[in-house]
Amino acid sequence: LYYQPQVSLADGSLVGLEALLRWRHPEKGLLPAAAFLPFAEESGLIVPISQWMLKTACTQHQAWQSRGGAGLRLAVNQPTRQLKNISLADSVDRALADSGLSPQLLELELTENYLMENPELLVDKLAALKSRGVRLAVDDFGTGYSSLPYLKRFNVDRLKIDLSFVRRAPSDPGSRAVIEAVIAMAHSLGMRVTAEGVETREQEELLRRCGCDEGQGYLFARLSQQKFFLFGPGTGVFFSLQHQPA
Ligand code: MN
Repeated sequence: LYYQPQVSLADGSLVGLEALLRWRHPEKGLLPAAAFLPFAEESGLIVPISQWMLKTACTQHQAWQSRGGAGLRLAVNQPTRQLKNISLADSVDRALADSGLSPQLLELELTENYLMENPELLVDKLAALKSRGVRLAVDDFGTGYSSLPYLKRFNVDRLKIDLSFVRRAPSDPGSRAVIEAVIAMAHSLGMRVTAEGVETREQEELLRRCGCDEGQGYLFARLSQQKFFLFGPGTGVFFSLQHQPA
């Protein structure tokens, strides 16, 4: 598990961390989750991997609470299969109980495609999670087809704008228009917006002008297991955390 900082675009402050799964392959180097999670889904390993991710991230995050990370939000991606086969609420309960982390600090990220695949079946499951105080984010927003009534019924807290829009935004008016529309829609439904894959100052400024709440990406910090070095506007290093192996 690696952790990527999530930063407020208004003031550059660190507001959260997203736990991201990587595989350190002996020959191919560090592989992103998309390179191996499909195989984990096929083999069924996705369920124990998802539970391990949740528990490891919550335990690490709880340890950071007393090491300068108090009040930071923890975002954990939960692969979709998890919700189909077993109770995600049970995994969440176990991870929170084992780690001692406050549910209010945990945000689960579920992909848009999955949420909209069979939304009626998810209403109760997601309500059970939200009743614990856990927050809900829609990942890779804009790559699928969302139903606005369901976003409202799911009581979603956050939309995460897919990095493909962020990447194209500086040169493509169409992508900018999508970003503006998503932010306006999210805010009017009471949701916050985080942009993924922010890599340049130009993208950051554009997102800020559009009213985007938060951003994450290599502009702010590289993925890290060991330490966080964040670079805010003109501030240099303003935050660092020492990783404590769980
Ligand atoms: Mn994510």
